[in-house]
Formats: sequence, C-alpha cells, structure tokens
Amino acid sequence: EAKEGGRKRFVFYSEDITARRKEQDEIRASLSRALSDGELFLEFQPQFCFSSESYVGAEALLRWRCSTSNEMIPPGKFIPIAEESGQIWAIDKFVLDEACRTAADWARRGLGQKRIAVNLSPHSFQRLGLAAIILNTLERWSLTADALEIEITEGVLLTDSQQVETNLADIAKLGVRIALDDFGTGYSNIAYLAKLKPDLLKIDRSFLKEANHHTRASIVQGIERLASTLGAETLVEGIETADELQFVKDAGCQLIQGFLLARPMRADKIAAFWLKNQQANETGNSNQSLLKQ
Ligand code: C2E
Ligand code: MG
Ligand code: MG
Ligand code: MG
Repeated sequence: EAKEGGRKRFVFYSEDITARRKEQDEIRASLSRALSDGELFLEFQPQFCFSSESYVGAEALLRWRCSTSNEMIPPGKFIPIAEESGQIWAIDKFVLDEACRTAADWARRGLGQKRIAVNLSPHSFQRLGLAAIILNTLERWSLTADALEIEITEGVLLTDSQQVETNLADIAKLGVRIALDDFGTGYSNIAYLAKLKPDLLKIDRSFLKEANHHTRASIVQGIERLASTLGAETLVEGIETADELQFVKDAGCQLIQGFLLARPMRADKIAAFWLKNQQANETGNSNQSLLKQ
C-alpha cells in the first residue's frame, strides 16, 4: 500500500513537471512574439527621499500582457525563462532603451531631473560591450550618466567572471550609478562589495516583515553601517504600512519605495504624478504630509 502511495505521488509529480514544461515552452514561444509585437511595456515606481522631501526618481518594472492568454504574466515568471533561453539580452536592451526614452521625456516636459533605475539580469553582465550599449542609449536620449541607475542582484557578484568585472567597472566609469537589489537576501562577498563600491544598497522588504522588532532594527542598522563604510546610500523597498514607514524613518534610512507611497504606474500616470508633486512643492502645499515629520 505504501508502495502504491509512493508511486501515485510520483505520477502526480511527473504530471506536474510536464505541465510546467509545457507552460514554459508556451511562454518562451510567446515571448519572442511579444517583444516584436510590442506587448512588453514598463511601469514606474517612484522613489522618495526623506532629507530632500521629494521624489528623486523611479524604478522601471517590466510588464507583459500576453495576447495569447490575454493575461498579465509577472516578471518573476517570464524572466527566469528568458534567462534560460537567452532572450533576456534582447529584453534587457529593450528595457534600457524604453526607460531612458521615458526619462528623456520627463526632462523635456519640464518634470525635472528624475533618476531612472533599470533592472538588468546577471546574464547580461556576461555580454561583451554592455557598458558601450548603456553609453549609446544615454547618448541617443541625450541623458547624462547620473540620470541612470543600474540595479544588479547579488547573484552578479557570485559569478567569478572577468567579463562581469569588466562590465561593472566600465559602467561605474561612465558615471552610471550601481544599486545592489534585494540586498541581504543573497550571499554577498564582502571583499568584492568593497571593490565594486555600489552607490546604493536596496534593502529587501523581507526585513520589514521580521516579526521581532529588535531583530528588524538590528538588521537594518547593520546594513546602514555597512553602507556607510562602503560610501553607499540605502533604500528600503516594499514599504506597505505606516508602521514600516515610521520604522525606516527612525532607522535613519533616506530613500524609500513601496506601495504605501505609490504603486508602479504607467508612463502617462507617472508624468502626472511628478507634475502634481512639483506643483505641491512649489506652493509649499505638499500633499506628502504622510512623509513629513
Ligand atoms: P525588484 O527589482 O526587487 O522589484 C521590486 C518588486 O517589488 C516589483 O515587483 C514591485 O512591483 C514590487 N513592490 C514594490 N513595492 C512593493 C510593496 O510595497 N509591497 C510588495 N509586496 N511588493 C512591492 P515586480 O514588478 O513583480 O518585479 C519582480 C522582479 O522581477 C523584480 O524585483 C526584478 O528582479 C524583476 N524585474 C522586473 N522588471 C525587470 C526588468 O525590466 N528586467 C529584469 N532583468 N528584471 C526585472
Ligand atoms: Mg529592482
Ligand atoms: Mg528589489
Ligand atoms: Mg526582487
């Protein structure tokens, strides 16, 4: 009987695998079409700075409404597939160009210099000439290097590759900011961190969910200290509640991002968002009372 149960479990398991493979094959095929048919687009999530009491920029986040299923497929689902298939290189170049195009549009419409943060896959750091493509894109949209921030995950630092090191050094030389995303969830090589000299550590939201308040504070303070040693800023992402906001404020973090402030939004919406905030600041009638002490 036990044996039969075991076999049954195996059957379910393999059916599961087959279904997943099928879904992945479908996603891979649809993705090629999606890129050429313009089904991929970006949303932008604002980033706020306590000390300047203003929004300093936004993170570009990739979105895909698949025309086959007419459903939104989250990046967490299709990016790993694109990484495996090699499609990620074309996707990352698209995102970079689209993000810079949007940032140039904000500048042209007098919405002020807002930094744009772009997520690039660790795979793209294995490519020859990544920095040249970044420079090219900045020039195409007449942006200065400090208008762009590249978000990398700690995974990039794990690959012991000369190409990755060269790309990172070349990007830094351009004057483009480097942010370490989801910081604290991976296994950063501290020696390499010191060499990389990131401009920003993005503290993962999982720490905010830490139930023990003392532990939560200790972790964030530890990262703050490390950041200041490295000469980096910190940003806490994923702030959802007023309690979390108060906590990061007390911890002395300067930069924040999260649903409580603003959800990721389409290009037209964020242009209106920047404008509203600009006007509020000019009249001294800031609607960001939540964020002021
Ligand atoms: P990430 O770079 O850490 O992006 C932050 C994720 O947290 C986004 O999910 C965002 O919508 C979500 N988020 C923001 N504020 C909150 C909050 O207050 N609460 C909660 N629960 N979530 C919040 P999203 O857009 O699903 O992206 C997931 C991941 O997919 C990203 O994590 C990033 O690793 C990857 N990704 C997204 N866009 C791109 C892209 O253009 N290129 C590459 N290579 N990867 C991307
Ligand atoms: Mg990110
Ligand atoms: Mg993150
Ligand atoms: Mg993440």
